[in-house]
Amino acid sequence: MPVTSLPPLPRRPIRELPDELISQIAAGEVVERPASVVRELVDNALDAGATQITVRLQAGGVRLISVEDNGCGILRSELPHALKRHATSKIASLSDLESVGTMGFRGEALAAICSIAEVSLLTRVDTPDEPHGWLLDGRSGELQPTARAPGTTVEVRELFFATPARRKFLKTDATELAHCIEAVRRHALARPDVGFAIWHEGKLVAQWRAVAGDSGIAALRQRLADVLGEDFVAQAVAVDWPIEAPVLVANGQQRLRVWGFAGVPDAARSRADWQFAYVNGRYVRDKVITHAARSAYEDVLHGHRQPVYALFISLDPTRVDVNVHPTKIEVRFRDSREVHQGVHHAVEAALAVPRSGNSAADAAPMPVAAPAAPAWTPPTRQAPFAFAPREPEVGHRVSDVGALWATAPAAPPPTTASINANANAWAPPARSADPAPPQALPEGDWPLGRAIAQLQGVYILAENAHGLVVVDMHAAHERIVYERLKQQLDEQQLASQPLLIPATFSATPDEVATAEDGAEVLTTLGLEITALSPKTLAVRAVPTTLAQGDPVELARSVLAELGQHEASTVVQRARNELLATMACHGAVRANRRLTLDEMNALLRQMEVTERSDQCNHGRPTWRQMGMKELDALFLRGR
Ligand code: ADP
Ligand code: MG
Repeated sequence: MPVTSLPPLPRRPIRELPDELISQIAAGEVVERPASVVRELVDNALDAGATQITVRLQAGGVRLISVEDNGCGILRSELPHALKRHATSKIASLSDLESVGTMGFRGEALAAICSIAEVSLLTRVDTPDEPHGWLLDGRSGELQPTARAPGTTVEVRELFFATPARRKFLKTDATELAHCIEAVRRHALARPDVGFAIWHEGKLVAQWRAVAGDSGIAALRQRLADVLGEDFVAQAVAVDWPIEAPVLVANGQQRLRVWGFAGVPDAARSRADWQFAYVNGRYVRDKVITHAARSAYEDVLHGHRQPVYALFISLDPTRVDVNVHPTKIEVRFRDSREVHQGVHHAVEAALAVPRSGNSAADAAPMPVAAPAAPAWTPPTRQAPFAFAPREPEVGHRVSDVGALWATAPAAPPPTTASINANANAWAPPARSADPAPPQALPEGDWPLGRAIAQLQGVYILAENAHGLVVVDMHAAHERIVYERLKQQLDEQQLASQPLLIPATFSATPDEVATAEDGAEVLTTLGLEITALSPKTLAVRAVPTTLAQGDPVELARSVLAELGQHEASTVVQRARNELLATMACHGAVRANRRLTLDEMNALLRQMEVTERSDQCNHGRPTWRQMGMKELDALFLRGR
């Protein structure tokens, strides 16, 4: 029995809706604001093969949106269809729909827009037998010959004039204009080969010239610089990831390609407003892609910073359904895991290459050469802490973290000035027995230059071809140790070293419990911690890489970290946090005096360590102060 009894609705007959109303309903889904119209019209211009598109707006697009292109135009005989619902030149069958390569395909945008605004269409095809163009009035359907160069101009006036309720939802002209510009910007990033101009109230507000040449990564670089600014590209690395798909997809035919630019962690923003993702050239907002990209930054970007990127994903059109959202901003992948892995690995590999080993910081823009594609192996299912080896990654490997100190046979005796509270908790690790020392570059090619001094026990100063390099020595070394530990764990070579005399310490019941419950995990990490009594723990073995650190401090931190995680749910994420905690203890402390040889060894190690541009907390490890900046400081050359 219903709680409240409403009077029954009067019975009404089922009727077919009039065309106009059907279009207005469709318009409700397709056209939210002026920017939606701009997007649809620019879509059409691009589908028509335009190379120059001019958008003119008045009152944020509410009074007028005009999109002019130099595309193929519309034949006079087809003009009456252009504004009709479900009339399109882009698909003719279901199989066309399944492999659609154009931006539009539903044939409803112009009809929908016509139902909520005054539309006129001026067009001319580029054939000798059509000596002039035609002007079509959307309301009356009247056709008039007019003069025009080949191409099409669609004018949309008084948006929502017939639906005042919708008009009320619009924001200020300035806001609507910003949305319109954003809509064009999204197209512009995908099509460097097309020139765009946006006018508002007779003023040019944005202009991006067509980039000559191919539409490859160099063209994209130029377009990104034009649209998002030089800073964006100067702080971004090229992503290019061709994956041989046979290992990814069963039929062995498909390929997934991910390319574009990813901002370095330093370039991250507080808002996710510079994350551009495209699937087969179409701008999309997609959770799988966003998550995959963010996860690639996991290890270098901490906190709530939002990475910046422009990523293009190409895949066989039959593997993605674009017909799932009225404005086509969402897509559905047939295999979203494939896309997630592709995007994640593409971005991660691009970020892993140390920039110091790549190009000098403030010098030339990042090289556009793509990193070589490593072989792909499908990830195996991982049991907690049974870490499967990962695929080889781009960039150099550090094969011997101990080599950092190879040129410094003995640690200098600490001077009183350089001793801090923890000074004796750290000494240079002994040379480990790893086979291949890292391939240091010849002296003239050292991107981080030659060490010249140490500042306040915190920074290393070095001189390179561009000027001064300043390195945060603890942060840098911490990353080196961390990467080393990760690599060792991945390769199941995290060697452990028994302590001659076990280090005992009084522990809390929690610590004892964690040590006992997590014994297996600890062993994987190269640690052996056993209970001597309900209140005492003994550290019996530590990872060789961290052998010189304070075992008790190390044990306490790892137990604290481990205690926060359910041992059975520990996955990649917690593993990295644990290793980061351990690395912090293995890294050279601030206030420790280093010899020049030790400093140089650290710099050489950074140059060949993945992700060495950021410390484990996502902060930069080094900065370049170019001669220009230094000269400016002293007003030199003015
Ligand atoms: P769709 O883009 O889904 O086909 P639209 O309603 O946006 O549907 O456009 C209908 C048809 O009008 C298109 O299929 C195309 O043939 C034609 N058309 C629209 N805009 C243009 C243009 N700028 N240049 C050439 N043809 C156009
Ligand atoms: Mg269209």
